[in-house]
Amino acid sequence: MIKYKLACKNCNLTFDSWFATSNEYEKLKKKKLLNCHNCNSREVDKTVMSPKIINYGFNEKLKEKSQNIKNIKKTLQEYQKFIKNNFKYVGKNFAYEARSIHYNDKKEQKGIYGSASKKDLKELKEEGIDAQIIPWVENKSN
Ligand SMILES: [Zn+2]
Repeated sequence: MIKYKLACKNCNLTFDSWFATSNEYEKLKKKKLLNCHNCNSREVDKTVMSPKIINYGFNEKLKEKSQNIKNIKKTLQEYQKFIKNNFKYVGKNFAYEARSIHYNDKKEQKGIYGSASKKDLKELKEEGIDAQIIPWVENKSN
């Protein structure tokens, strides 16, 4: 036996009903043999899943999401490692260094990376200096 909480869409009455199996419920519903004790409406349906089931699905989604975030973070960290190995860190002097490379035609072997303000980036772009923005994750565990 299985107990379902049923709700009437017509009068909003909720009531418990017993069925032999969950299939029996489906069968009765298909044949429109379920009706409201109060208003006799056939618009009767199982009420939403128990909170436990909803929470379970929600947690699964969260887990999936945090897994994705972990993957993104890992990708970024690998990207950062590559940058750290191949580019020269110039810190807040990024805009200055980028200009000196651009205008003085410094034959730098390495590219540079550092931080720049949005205003700096906009000005650099207007001067035809390409700068790539990447999100930077701080890894305090390393
Ligand atoms: Zn009703």
